[in-house]
Amino acid sequence: MRTRVIAGNWKMHKTVAEGRALARAIREGLGGAPSCEVILAPPFTALEAVGAEIAGSPIGLAAQNVHWEEAGAFTGEISPRMLEDVGCSAVLIGHSERRQYFGETDRTVNLRVRAALRSTLAPIVCVGESLADRESGRHEDIVAQQLAGGLDGLTAGDLERIILAYEPVWAIGTGRTASPETAQEMHGFIRRTLAGKFGADAGRVRIVYGGSVKPDNTAALMRQPDIDGALVGGACLEAKSFLGIIRHEP
Ligand code: PEP
Repeated sequence: MRTRVIAGNWKMHKTVAEGRALARAIREGLGGAPSCEVILAPPFTALEAVGAEIAGSPIGLAAQNVHWEEAGAFTGEISPRMLEDVGCSAVLIGHSERRQYFGETDRTVNLRVRAALRSTLAPIVCVGESLADRESGRHEDIVAQQLAGGLDGLTAGDLERIILAYEPVWAIGTGRTASPETAQEMHGFIRRTLAGKFGADAGRVRIVYGGSVKPDNTAALMRQPDIDGALVGGACLEAKSFLGIIRHEP
């Protein structure tokens, strides 16, 4: 009932030419229509070129961040309209690297989510606890707090366009994937929390897992009832491994 989504977060990797080549290899490697939704999130500089490469294919284009104003004196920022203009249909918001290194807070996540919802962009909202939070048993409190702040003021109808990404910080780029059971526990918790806030519509929200997803651990993760796809970092930078994840056998 929920279409799986596999999204690749290229982070600060790939020049325009490299991005074009990777997007082409993924498009060609996919062949026909994949059984899941596929999204590429290159850096801003490669959005247009990657968008042109995947035009007419089932692959979607996402940015890695968005500002909440439409235009103005905000040096270094990019508005929702600019992202729509280059063909984006989605945007990552609140990635842990933005929270950790660039002062992103639940408040700014919320502003970005609301701005995306005012546009046509689908927000992919990232939440997740640090290792210290997990070891002190506060992981659910932290994620509940991120959900409350990041989704503040939204309606059940807004949920239709949102994808949530659970990305435990201790699993990102570390090679230490959450076990399918650990990930499922948190995905179930996220869905129950959303149901408490928004009601039955929570059953329709896609919640994807991120944190060292590789071709050989994808199927076990995807077998969990509340895991609806993956947000992939390192393994999306090469067509072979990203295609291996897309072609997982659930
Ligand atoms: C990410 O940064 O969103 C991510 C999940 O990275 P990796 O797959 O490299 O852990």
